[in-house]
Amino acid sequence: MTDRPLTLMAVHAHPDDEATGTGGVLARYAAEGIRTVLVTCTDGACGDGPGGVKPGEAGHDPAAVAAMRRQELEASCEVLGIGHLELLGYGDSGMMGWAANDAPGSFWTTPVDEAAARLADLMRHYRPDVVVTYDENGFYGHPDHIQANRITARALELAGTAPKVYWTTAPRSMMARFGEVMRELGAEWEEPEPGESEMPEIGLPDEEITTWVDATAFGGRKFDALAAHASQGENIFFLKMGKERFTELMGVETFVRVHDTTGAELPENDLFAGLR
Ligand SMILES: [Zn+2]
Repeated sequence: MTDRPLTLMAVHAHPDDEATGTGGVLARYAAEGIRTVLVTCTDGACGDGPGGVKPGEAGHDPAAVAAMRRQELEASCEVLGIGHLELLGYGDSGMMGWAANDAPGSFWTTPVDEAAARLADLMRHYRPDVVVTYDENGFYGHPDHIQANRITARALELAGTAPKVYWTTAPRSMMARFGEVMRELGAEWEEPEPGESEMPEIGLPDEEITTWVDATAFGGRKFDALAAHASQGENIFFLKMGKERFTELMGVETFVRVHDTTGAELPENDLFAGLR
């Protein structure tokens, strides 16, 4: 044992992803006294601008969007009690197929080894016990999320791996319920027919999920963290639900354990099972 605090590191692509995917675990573990480190890889400049102006539309100023999103990110970290925010500062690559994918400085065009070396330095500094990022498809195919997965995998090799490594996921049972609620609220939510979509299906069958963490006690905080990112159109979806419903749907966060040296039995309900 060392006197080093147990440490959770979450590696995310954009400002707001910390809240959507891991707001519950970040808030819960911070409250339990675990050191929490958020690494945000891009500046989010391809996000919506003030007043909902979309990238490429007149009046969308990427530098101003990045500055606004930085403030929103700091507010979200405050709400979630995140101890350390580290910004890699790469350019947001936009959705797959956008010109921004190949823009100079975009995260997507940054060599994996180059960004991974910077992340590995952060891992050597914080020595996380648990590292969380996206799966190899970036959960839903966003290039920056895919790149976050790649640099995390490489950084773990460079720094010497953490005892436990997880990918975020969503249970299909929840995705189905989510679709229902969205339709009820009048949001556009199209569920692709199986085999129709070019994108791999989002989430996993419930039985393939290894780790279910109950963060419902922190559902309100997660909601407030997302509310800090209300400038982004897609977050309005979540906020429309209201706190109670949001917590019911999004209060339990799910993961796939992809590396483990603790031998903690699966399924588990704690990212730190076997470490304390
Ligand atoms: Zn994102």
